[in-house]
Amino acid sequence: MEPSPGHQDVVIVGAGLSGIAAAVQLKADHPGRSFVMLEQRAELGGTWKLFRYPGIRSDSDMYTLGYAFKPWTHEKAIASGASILDYLHEAVDEHDLASHVQLGRKVRRADWSGESHCWTLEVDAPSGVEPWTCSFLYLAAGYYDYDGGNMPEFPGLGQFEGTVIHPQEWPEGVDCAGQRVAVIGSGATAITLVPALAEAADKVIMVQRSPTYVAIDSDVDEEAQRLRKEVGDREAFERIRLRNLELQQERYQTARTWPEEFKKPLFEAIEDIVGREVREKHFTPSYQPWDQRLCLVPNGDLFHAIAKGRADVVTGHIETFTPQGLRMTSGEEVNVDVVVTATGLKLVTFGKIDLYVDGEHVDVGECFTYKGVAISDVPNLVTAFGYLNSSWTLRIELVNEFWSAVLSRMDELGVREVRPVLTPEEVAMERRPWMTGVTSGYLVRHMDDMPKQGDYAPWLNPQVHEETKALLSDLDDGSLTFR
Ligand SMILES: Cc1cc2nc3c(=O)[nH]c(=O)nc-3n(C[C@H](O)[C@H](O)[C@H](O)COP(=O)(O)OP(=O)(O)OC[C@H]3O[C@@H](n4cnc5c(N)ncnc54)[C@H](O)[C@@H]3O)c2cc1C
Repeated sequence: MEPSPGHQDVVIVGAGLSGIAAAVQLKADHPGRSFVMLEQRAELGGTWKLFRYPGIRSDSDMYTLGYAFKPWTHEKAIASGASILDYLHEAVDEHDLASHVQLGRKVRRADWSGESHCWTLEVDAPSGVEPWTCSFLYLAAGYYDYDGGNMPEFPGLGQFEGTVIHPQEWPEGVDCAGQRVAVIGSGATAITLVPALAEAADKVIMVQRSPTYVAIDSDVDEEAQRLRKEVGDREAFERIRLRNLELQQERYQTARTWPEEFKKPLFEAIEDIVGREVREKHFTPSYQPWDQRLCLVPNGDLFHAIAKGRADVVTGHIETFTPQGLRMTSGEEVNVDVVVTATGLKLVTFGKIDLYVDGEHVDVGECFTYKGVAISDVPNLVTAFGYLNSSWTLRIELVNEFWSAVLSRMDELGVREVRPVLTPEEVAMERRPWMTGVTSGYLVRHMDDMPKQGDYAPWLNPQVHEETKALLSDLDDGSLTFR
């Protein structure tokens, strides 16, 4: 039976990759708990339903972006958005979750009452505002704004006579066939879009302010294919998942510790396809690897498009849009029919939900993060946030194991409230950003709005798997207070 507005043991906000993972774990470990997934959109799938631009695909491999409980069995390890969405739907079907999903429900506000030990939610629904309450709130709302992407103010935009498209709102069926297209940006979206559009377009020009580190890799994992034949899907999946998890962390550590050694093979692979001049001019960032997100170029597709003359790169600052396209500060004119603004995501904090505890507004940016999964002094709340330097899911699954253990502990103790509590000394700890070691503008700009890290555990938010695992393996840290 579908849950109707009223009380649930758990409300999961968001029915994307994280919300589905949370629901699977909850159902398996706590079958007696009632729960609902409130999803603001008309469909589930989150990121993998929202983005529909040509070529949309994962940036990390599906052995680690996929769930530990559901082997990825497709040939491609770097998978299309559509196949990831299918996989999420399969997970929902296999775990019988559809009846728990309530679509078209946007959670705007959540009020915790210490008296009734529950959250009261203000939820916009198709029929008006719905009253939901829950004992535990799980925020799986992702990290960016579903209402629109980041769009810098470009001078002269209004005079452009062609079409402007933001990848977050890609019009159905548009592939830019026969047109000249500029793609503004140098992140994962631009790097995906350029070769995909180049298949049909007359010419695609990637216009970037500055270069990004890119790594060429095959989208098919040959070892995984061989192992599948030898030991079957599940065993192969588990082995490759573990191998990739270790590889991702190892590569990240190498990049941070020995950046010059790390850069060398990346640069050589690019030069093999487009030569040294193009690599030096357009693919040599001024920062160190992983100061900003490293992007994947599967099978070198971007560079093959450049080598064939179907794509080009212009590196520099845009002075203005013109009626025909763009003029760079160098004076170079980029004349096109279509401009795609792959200028990124607008980040938001925990689904833009206003949180209140006993009538007091929670200023999330003033709070400390508890292990990257909860907020200081906010009871019965989990915030699901994955890795940015490795597959998102690897962290989400640790979050879910931790959260499940918290619920079990609450049952053992017969308590209704769990809260990470700061000591008076900890309140005065130095406040460090939510994430350290990142320099991407869009992330840095958002750090003020996110909870802060303190000086020591458990007030930390590591991005290294082993550290996260160690931090999330301990409930008895003296800060998590059950009452
Ligand atoms: C184009 C693109 C490619 C990516 N590729 C990778 C990759 O290869 N590897 C990787 O690790 N990560 C990747 N990411 C990051 C990606 O977002 C995560 O991997 C993962 O999909 C996040 O899942 P999620 O469920 O946490 O968030 P989302 O997918 O963002 O889902 C959140 C859900 O919550 C809903 N929601 C939000 N606020 C509310 C609210 N207030 N009320 C109700 N519902 C709400 C949203 O509508 C959405 O359905 C990519 C991101 C993008 C944008």
